[in-house]
Amino acid sequence: MPELPEVETVRRTLEPAIGATIVAVWDSGKGLHMARKPPRKKLRALAGATITRIHRHGKYLLIETDTAQTLLVHLGMTGRTLLVAKNHPVAKHTHMVIDFGERELRFIDPRRFGQIDIVERGKESEHEGLAVLGPDGLFEPATGAYLFGKSRKKNATLKAFVLDQSVIAGVGNIYASEALWRAKLRPTTRAKKLTLAKATILAAAIHEVFDRALTKGGTSLRDFVNAYGVEGSNVDYLWVYGRTGEPCPRDQTKIRRSVLQGRATFYCPTCQTP
Ligand SMILES: [Zn+2]
Repeated sequence: MPELPEVETVRRTLEPAIGATIVAVWDSGKGLHMARKPPRKKLRALAGATITRIHRHGKYLLIETDTAQTLLVHLGMTGRTLLVAKNHPVAKHTHMVIDFGERELRFIDPRRFGQIDIVERGKESEHEGLAVLGPDGLFEPATGAYLFGKSRKKNATLKAFVLDQSVIAGVGNIYASEALWRAKLRPTTRAKKLTLAKATILAAAIHEVFDRALTKGGTSLRDFVNAYGVEGSNVDYLWVYGRTGEPCPRDQTKIRRSVLQGRATFYCPTCQTP
């Protein structure tokens, strides 16, 4: 599933669409996340609008226009957002096409867990998907004091704590394992055990794993590609995620895999102290 660095990579590679005027919008009429169909009437009403800004909060893309409407896109599990020439072959599972004349922005999603919606500008944060989000992990980076405050009295594990989108929007399963390894924290430790010093190290580790992934164009485990259809290379630079049995880059101990709340978690039993 795309996490903050992947969605940010998509956002950056979509930026050439800023200034483009929408000729028409097509949608497949198929249900996406929660079987909801994209709002066809509102999408079609975007014809004539010009893209003014492409923003992001957590894993949501917010495509603003010079009308009062903002197009909201969530990639879900397998969503791709491509900016292609009009004559580029249309992929199977294409669910939305924004026609700019010579180019098109296409949304492709085989598993259909993605979301397409229209929200009124200025009211984006009231959308049900965004209303529950905490500060964005990149644009409003968490401080140690913030994480320390949020973790007080929390019985949740550190893994669940960093995955909690109301704490930091954008951290997913890959970067949770990576950040906890970087901070030398055991994923099963209770969040309430964080000290201010450790919370500060964790905040810095989250920034570092995001920055690192962004410079590599994101992590492409299965489906992820940027708006030009290019995969990211960060999978080659992951420290622990997916590396069961391989040596810890810090002390050569074999990396372990465990399952926490149904999600694979990777850690070093030596340097990530409980
Ligand atoms: Zn280690």
